[in-house]
Amino acid sequence: MANLMAEYATIAGADVVSHLRQLAEPLKGAKVVHVNSTRSGGGVAEILHKLVPLMVELGLDARWEVLTGNDAFFRCTKHLHNGLQGYPVALEDADRQSFHAASAENAERLRALLEEADVVFIHDPQPAALLDLCPNRRGRWIWRCHIDLSHPHRPIWRFLRPFVAGYDASVFSLASFAQPLPHPQYLIPPSIDPLSDKNLELPEAEIAAARTRFGIDPERPLITQISRFDRFKDPLGVIAAYRLVKRFLPNLQLVLAGGSASDDPEGAAMLQEVRDTAGADPDIHVLDLPPDSHRCINALQRTSRIVLQKSLREGFGLTVTEAMWKQRPVIGGDTGGIRLQVVNYHTGFRVSTPEGAALRIRYLLHHPELLEAMGAKAQAYVRENFLLTRQLREYLTLMRALDNHGSDRIELG
Ligand code: UDP
Repeated sequence: MANLMAEYATIAGADVVSHLRQLAEPLKGAKVVHVNSTRSGGGVAEILHKLVPLMVELGLDARWEVLTGNDAFFRCTKHLHNGLQGYPVALEDADRQSFHAASAENAERLRALLEEADVVFIHDPQPAALLDLCPNRRGRWIWRCHIDLSHPHRPIWRFLRPFVAGYDASVFSLASFAQPLPHPQYLIPPSIDPLSDKNLELPEAEIAAARTRFGIDPERPLITQISRFDRFKDPLGVIAAYRLVKRFLPNLQLVLAGGSASDDPEGAAMLQEVRDTAGADPDIHVLDLPPDSHRCINALQRTSRIVLQKSLREGFGLTVTEAMWKQRPVIGGDTGGIRLQVVNYHTGFRVSTPEGAALRIRYLLHHPELLEAMGAKAQAYVRENFLLTRQLREYLTLMRALDNHGSDRIELG
């Protein structure tokens, strides 16, 4: 692990790494705890797997805790998640009770650790209630919201807001995601780890093996969407777009690859709906992958001409950035963080309908030189903006800013 920073230096630059060390110096030994709701599945877990060890390598006493809960709790938090993204859901009394009960149980288990911590990062709504359940906390508490709160279903936001209002600060990925809250709000977009199995360069033989394993014809164009099977990722819209293109390009292939997250109880039903919609088309490959399929996903992204992320709502689609890092243009839903990630007409296209996606797919497949140029720009854009080192720098800066001992002057240098 000690060599990790040196490896990052080769990708992000030695000055970037030395700046990180400098920022971390006064934070050495600080007890930092991250809490989220799943160890695998979804972008938050993906980031924490790397961010936490890097904080440790920089000398912070960082750790990562995961909520436990029963099915009723995760059903409730999935409602919260959907509602916060604008879907009109109703919380029943039983949902509220399971939320309170699981929060109390987790607080029992984690209280000593959390109250002792210097900085606590609470990720997303699921663990938000922990703050009030740790009355003797001595550190700074940050609510790190990864989802797009711009148009929440109001009753759901009214339920959640009192839990997050008491935090010392919140972090959103984009300004437009935030809601008025009585504390400072920081904007920190997520990032990808270029050294992880998900993103590192792969030998050509490994990519070819993935094609063989899934029956993908290397001679024919492939488009791919990697996503949890979730309505907001719009896998059915992707199939609709594929079918529109297929009329003109009968040799087109589609991969829809996903898996389930332990905090997402709706995945299985969505997967079934995707399978039913795909029907008997041998060129649609619906893949239900285990959570550790990082190299396999990497290979699928690399073997695709174009990567889709046709989300209807998206916090910050890590899959978008992962594909761009691999020099793939991305056709993404014109929503949320994708607006920040995909520079329209430069690193891909943003679309609002299956018809729009189909038009762009056809266009790019007919202009391979443009496709390649967009892919190159996409990678450069990620290198500049969305690597883990940038996000780590911003988290360290945030911790320094909060550790200001009541002073109005905050030294960040
Ligand atoms: N992912 C994965 N396996 C899957 C589906 C997704 O490992 O079956 C990864 C994907 O590569 C990305 C993350 O999970 O790193 C999903 O993050 P994103 O921000 O795109 O979406 P989220 O699931 O957090 O809404």
